[in-house]
Amino acid sequence: MSDETWTRFTHGGFTCTVVSDGPLRLGPAKNSFPGSTPNEVDAILLRNGLPTDHVTLDQNLLIVDAEGTLVLFDTGVGAMPDLGRRVYGPQAGQALANMEAAGISPNAIDVVALTHAHPDHCWGLLAPDGTPAFPNARVVVGAADHAHFTDPDKAAQVTDPHIRNQYTGARTNLSPYGDRLVLAEDGYSVATGITAIATPGHSPGHLVYEITSEGQTLVVWGDLCHHVVLLEHPEWAFVFDGDKEAAVAQRQSVYRGIVDGGRTVLSYHFPFPGLGTLTTRGGGYSWRPVAGRTAIVRSPHQASGREQGSDTSRSSKTPTGSTASSSAGIWPTSL
Ligand SMILES: [Zn+2]
Repeated sequence: MSDETWTRFTHGGFTCTVVSDGPLRLGPAKNSFPGSTPNEVDAILLRNGLPTDHVTLDQNLLIVDAEGTLVLFDTGVGAMPDLGRRVYGPQAGQALANMEAAGISPNAIDVVALTHAHPDHCWGLLAPDGTPAFPNARVVVGAADHAHFTDPDKAAQVTDPHIRNQYTGARTNLSPYGDRLVLAEDGYSVATGITAIATPGHSPGHLVYEITSEGQTLVVWGDLCHHVVLLEHPEWAFVFDGDKEAAVAQRQSVYRGIVDGGRTVLSYHFPFPGLGTLTTRGGGYSWRPVAGRTAIVRSPHQASGREQGSDTSRSSKTPTGSTASSSAGIWPTSL
């Protein structure tokens, strides 16, 4: 987990900014990976210098300036008092503040491209007062996710109040965008060089996005993979995978494509900023964080009245009210 709040880099001809929404804290690692054995999970965690009593996932929101179209990928848990922070704790829900710190106004976002409609990806569509946080954006969501998570009949069938929260929260956040919602299928073109790839498994309408500029492709893989454990063991599932068998198959297919194509990854839940590449190792894969690509770039979409204000393109700040070091465990409804 990092205390950095945003960073900026270039991808081909595109300017990219990664903004943190703050960390999410899960329960013990051994409960998070169905199909695994606890000893194996703990060994991997220890080898990677990670604790075994809990799993912490970062939330890395990517903003791409694609030839003048500003595309935000996923939104974090949001800061509505009765949704995001009540469920996920005050250390999350930092995205809007960190966007402002990075010099990007929410008003400048042209497209919000969701990988899926789980809380930590779409509950930030609304501002704390319940109005659209991105008032000038269209919102791209997988058609199957929209159908599933906004179906009141499905919500009514759920008895667990935390799981029901997923449905009501998705409907609450998506519906205010009205006719600016785009229900995307496989191959949907988001903007110049940006294509949605259907990867159902973690959720019914999960989308991975490929961002190609000047012959380089960056893969925004959302919740295709939450943790390095699932690189070493792609055959294991994640506790919140909706269809675990399909999620495993998607994981293996996308990993292979990334390695074969020499592509870079933006991983939503990996340690900030979640930028890296894959290499094969044994029967699995290993993660190589990409360093040194961070460039000093001044965004043309600065927030009004605010300057980026420094000659650095990185920023560190402990989020207000952070409880990241608290021993209190938080079990999100789904990730
Ligand atoms: Zn997630």
